[in-house]
Amino acid sequence: MASERPTPPVARPVVHRDVVCPFCGLGCDDLTVEEEPPSTLAVRSTDCPVARERFSRTPPAEAPRVAGVSVPLAEAVDAAAAVLAAAQAPLVAGLGTDVNGARAALSLAERLGAAVDHALSDGLYRNLAVLQRTGWIATTLAELRNRCDLLVVAGPDPAALHPRLFERWVAPAPAFQTPPSREVVFLCGAPLDSTLAALSNLPVTILPGDPARVGDVAAALAAALAEPSRAAGAAGIAAEDIAALAERLRKARYAVVAWAAAAFASPHADLTVERLVQLVRDANRHTRCAGLPLAGHDNVVGVNQVCTWRFGVPLRTSLAGGAPLHDPHRFAWARYAAVADAVVWVSAFRPEVPAFPAERTLIVLAPPGTALADEPAVFIPVGTPGIDHAAHVFRSDTVVALRARGLIDRGLPDAATVLKAIAAALPEEAPAC
Ligand code: SF4
Repeated sequence: MASERPTPPVARPVVHRDVVCPFCGLGCDDLTVEEEPPSTLAVRSTDCPVARERFSRTPPAEAPRVAGVSVPLAEAVDAAAAVLAAAQAPLVAGLGTDVNGARAALSLAERLGAAVDHALSDGLYRNLAVLQRTGWIATTLAELRNRCDLLVVAGPDPAALHPRLFERWVAPAPAFQTPPSREVVFLCGAPLDSTLAALSNLPVTILPGDPARVGDVAAALAAALAEPSRAAGAAGIAAEDIAALAERLRKARYAVVAWAAAAFASPHADLTVERLVQLVRDANRHTRCAGLPLAGHDNVVGVNQVCTWRFGVPLRTSLAGGAPLHDPHRFAWARYAAVADAVVWVSAFRPEVPAFPAERTLIVLAPPGTALADEPAVFIPVGTPGIDHAAHVFRSDTVVALRARGLIDRGLPDAATVLKAIAAALPEEAPAC
């Protein structure tokens, strides 16, 4: 009689629920992620293209390299410290890392007397420049969701950068309105199909116009708010549409003007932001109105927070002279890289590093599988926050730091550990005479 063989157990994927997504600053905390051992992740609960792509990039760990040769971590750390000890004008940048990584990077930069900046600070500075010049009235994602009855989206659809913005923060009915109502107006930007699908239960108005001139439309709206009879068209939007939107703004109980400055293509995008901020200010003569500047990929908002609480000034700061020197033009990383002799580039959220001139000595901390134009002097693979290790990242609206938990163990160190080790391996500073 043939004996029956027991069927081998089928390995089931590990399911992680209520996962916090650390990637774009919206702070979605409802993801379901399946893990196929040893280290393959797949997002199952949302079609968000950013989350799906970022969680799926988990190749196996690889060894650190010095001049292209695989070495133990301690050897790579020593090599990085030796390079940095000899540097005259170092730059610590990229800074795609969690709060702990940012603290360690800024401590290293302070020790080196380096300039510091985040890879994505261009978009951030289109907003910060206005905040520094004029101040602003800004709101939070929670206020948007619970109170806003009129959302004006200025310029290109922010969902291209923050894919679940409308699904998570606009489509749900406001909690603090009786009866709940909400209307969305797209100004000079065509909503994506996914945005229209997410907003299918709400009245949506699209006012097509030149996205590069959305600042002109903001100015026209501000003028129409002040004097309705003098409403004028702007950027391809007719005068009667400007007048109607100004009237709607006047009657709103809580209007929000949202924009994603990183998506603005005009060369002086901060001036566009300034006009939007001014529109918000003018609307407050008639009703409650607030701006919602959207940013936050790769924890740029959190890293800027850390820099500000640490040194009293935001990113784009040099620590070379003993006291922080903030200059958003001079210390923008792309500009300062032209004069720096050594660059520490941290990119823990994505396996991408920009090309640098060959004469720069480059130390890269990035995930395994990072594409590099040229082999850096030192490459140290690090884990991704919220995938390989627990991490705090800031939400786009700056008011909430979310804790993302680690999901898998590829045996990769986190960026903070490596940066602290490099700082510890630097030669002792000579005592002051
Ligand atoms: S919208 Fe942003 S935070 Fe939300 S799942 Fe997508 S990438 Fe993550």
